[in-house]
Amino acid sequence: MGIIRELPEQLANRIAAGEVVERPASVVKELVENAIDAGATKVEVDLKEAGIQLIKVRDNGHGFYAEDAARAFLRHATSKIRDEHDLFRIRTLGFRGEALASIASVSHVTLKSKRVDEEGFEMTLQGGVVTEKNPTATNVGTEITVSQLFFNTPARLKYLKTSATELASITDTLNRIALSHPEVRFTVFHEEKELLRTNGNGDIKQVMLAIYGRQVASQIVTASSKTNDYSLSAHLVRPEVTRSNKQYVTLILNGRSIKNFALTQSVLEGYHTLLPIGRFPIAVLEVKMDPMLIDVNVHPTKREVRLSKEKELCQLIRETVQLTLREQRLIPSVTQEAKPRVEQRSEQAKIDFSVETPAPVKETEWNYPIPREPRESVSSPSKWSPTPLVHERVVEAESEEETTEDMPKKERLPALDVIGQLHASYIICGAEDGMYILDQHAAQERIKYELFYERLGNPEKEYQLLLLPLTLEFTQEEALAIEEVSPILEEAGLQLEPFGGNTYLVREIPTWYPQHDLEGTVRDLVEMAIRDRSVDIAKYREEASILMACKRSIKANHPLNMEMMRQLIDDLGRTTSPFTCPHGRPILVKWSTYELEKLFKRVM
Ligand code: ADP
Ligand code: MG
Repeated sequence: MGIIRELPEQLANRIAAGEVVERPASVVKELVENAIDAGATKVEVDLKEAGIQLIKVRDNGHGFYAEDAARAFLRHATSKIRDEHDLFRIRTLGFRGEALASIASVSHVTLKSKRVDEEGFEMTLQGGVVTEKNPTATNVGTEITVSQLFFNTPARLKYLKTSATELASITDTLNRIALSHPEVRFTVFHEEKELLRTNGNGDIKQVMLAIYGRQVASQIVTASSKTNDYSLSAHLVRPEVTRSNKQYVTLILNGRSIKNFALTQSVLEGYHTLLPIGRFPIAVLEVKMDPMLIDVNVHPTKREVRLSKEKELCQLIRETVQLTLREQRLIPSVTQEAKPRVEQRSEQAKIDFSVETPAPVKETEWNYPIPREPRESVSSPSKWSPTPLVHERVVEAESEEETTEDMPKKERLPALDVIGQLHASYIICGAEDGMYILDQHAAQERIKYELFYERLGNPEKEYQLLLLPLTLEFTQEEALAIEEVSPILEEAGLQLEPFGGNTYLVREIPTWYPQHDLEGTVRDLVEMAIRDRSVDIAKYREEASILMACKRSIKANHPLNMEMMRQLIDDLGRTTSPFTCPHGRPILVKWSTYELEKLFKRVM
């Protein structure tokens, strides 16, 4: 007699539930996605005890046929695909037909629903078994209530984190869905406290306002770009506002919020030197593409997806972010109190509780002014763009605020009159709209960085023979790695000639190499290549430029005469990003005339 048998359906569902329904947030995600798939324009979520006691999702979608109701709770029951062919062109959020079966197997569920052409009904299930079903009066749409989650899987219940953590996870899930569907009106309550309210007007910036608050929303810059395969809409919060982790970079592919390391990385690379080290941006990137290019069926929760042509999309994202931010004027100005920069528009939303609360208003606060450039389009990348654009594309940057004042594109900096130097470190300037202070060291780092970056990318290198070759000694391990990275080093103009043992000679260097501490620079360049062991030339070029710029720059505490200061400002004005040093620190700050008048109590 054999010993293998098929598991009873209920048990199989409960096992499958382990994958789909990990925690309350997964239930919320599945139910809300179902509501959106049902064409809802309004979704209300009510929670008790971080969803463990109760999750109720009400929608105004098309509802269930009464005769479908029980079937919907069977495993692999779906209305969304019919055959294999459909699997390659998925336009709905769900399609695996497992969510309702899984959820019902580990909780008590009540389903109330009505289609426009039918009478409403109410059905109750316990542990996946239908216990009752009756006609009832209700509105068109669906209301699903899930209570006593994990009542029959105590191990799962025990594994849950504190309710604050579970609630934070639910909020994160709902925020992502709300960002992916700005056309749907969401309201979310936890124990009668409102957590999120969006207005459903289709404007993603309004959703960002609802989630991140007004201060962040006032710093959004929007850009769009496309290739043959992808069309991208990027909503970037200017780098003045940062976060301590990558969670605030949201990726949306065809209306689905997804996780993808390479794409997130491209966003970070786009911000690159504008962010202080260890800080991350807030950004929402919406990508539209042919569903044929995505495989969403690689994970039960569909959070991770596989993309064909991922590299192409990475490049599009990186360049769009880079170009857009570079077009902005990013001078922090000193104000006495934080002022909201966005006027109250139509319906405004509440601030999400889970987002870092803004620090209390300090006496002075950094604030980037609203950019002066009105809408403008850039049709070609600037000269030193690290990788050439492969496809014809247009990036349109659009700033949140409309201003009337026009700034010619080349003049990234206002006209600055040098007044003098402070502490041999800061340059004080007057301008039409106030007073500017420049950090001379940061300014020079930026100028040199861009110079070296350009030189490093230039294939025609002019060399100078060294009178005395540099003799560099390495460890055994380093010496082995040198072979490996020699193509990168050559790219940077360095040829290391083996000289027996672990010693190498450098006989010539490009003419533009910083002369100061040449040996130190060359050694650092080699070590950097070895450390990264990457063959990513673009990345190396950037790091090498930062390194050389750092070495070369005038340090603070260095007296400059008027002419030197003017020259520095001139050079700075010609850079592509004159507002931050390559490490992301500000180069200039501004006191507006108005702020000065306020300080002297000439105005109130
Ligand atoms: P999937 O979403 O993968 O199809 P689910 O188990 O989540 O599987 O749902 C099963 C089916 O139940 C769906 O295909 C859909 O037909 C129906 N359904 C689920 N939720 C709703 C809802 N809120 N409104 C209308 N129909 C729904
Ligand atoms: Mg579903």
